[in-house]
Amino acid sequence: MNLQIEGRVAVVTGGSSGIGFETLRLLLAEGANVAFCGRSAEKLSAAEATLKQDFPSERILAHRCDVLKPEQVADFAREVEQRFGAVDMLINNAGQGFVAHFDETPQEAWLNEAQLKLFGVINPLQAFLPMLERSDIASVTCVNSLLALQPEEHMIATSAARAALLNMTLTLSKQLIDKGIRVNSILLGMVESGQWRRRFAERSDTSQSWEQWTGAIAEHRGIPMKRLGKPQEPAQALLFLASPLASFTTGAALDVSGGFNRHL
Ligand code: NDP
Repeated sequence: MNLQIEGRVAVVTGGSSGIGFETLRLLLAEGANVAFCGRSAEKLSAAEATLKQDFPSERILAHRCDVLKPEQVADFAREVEQRFGAVDMLINNAGQGFVAHFDETPQEAWLNEAQLKLFGVINPLQAFLPMLERSDIASVTCVNSLLALQPEEHMIATSAARAALLNMTLTLSKQLIDKGIRVNSILLGMVESGQWRRRFAERSDTSQSWEQWTGAIAEHRGIPMKRLGKPQEPAQALLFLASPLASFTTGAALDVSGGFNRHL
């Protein structure tokens, strides 16, 4: 199936690892030009070098930037405009979760989570909006979490902030469609990627392999597919929603959780 994005331009925030990186690979394989950002210069240049082994350099732009710093995001947008002259798809993926129950969550963490989940989308949207408005296939696609609809006690601040993001993206979908911009989200369950690798490195029982550790988590949590997702799986969902294949879809939240969703 043709995704109709050849020669188009996609911006992926947080593309230097995990889901964002796999999304870049799929976009490039479909013929799109890509721009991506992350905070760590080392991770960014490693990702850029890996992508350039398989795809032409002129179709890839990596820019060091923290999505929470509006001036850095504005610089990123200026560089994308200079290089590609357009943006058709904005994929807001940058972020991480915060694991803590209510009594372990300091006020600072509440503020950080709210800031990351909301301004991690608001800042890139403001910076790239003028270019998106000029596109005839414009889309904004946000990586969100099932926590938005199905909160977990051990991630109370992240769950609340995810719900706020889902609420905001639904409103944005109504407001931006008049400019021809679709806005959708994916709702993730647990996906093997950077944040799980970090938690694996910190596990208490170091005799467990990655497969044993992730399999035990999936079973303990009751994921019907009995495994964590692979980063390519949300990446595929992101590509569908971002591309003209989803041309009549806006305001949607697509579940990518291996059947972990229990809400109606
Ligand atoms: P990774 O840690 O592998 O990737 C996160 C990416 O975001 C990295 O490139 C990281 O680079 C970048 N990033 C983080 N914070 C910022 C920032 N402030 N500004 C710019 N870039 C940033 O994790 P995942 O691939 O798993 O996560 C992708 C998204 O999916 C995140 O939003 C995460 O919260 C969400 N998610 C993931 C789940 C999972 O189970 N994996 C579950 C639910 C949601 P750097 O650190 O260098 O900035």
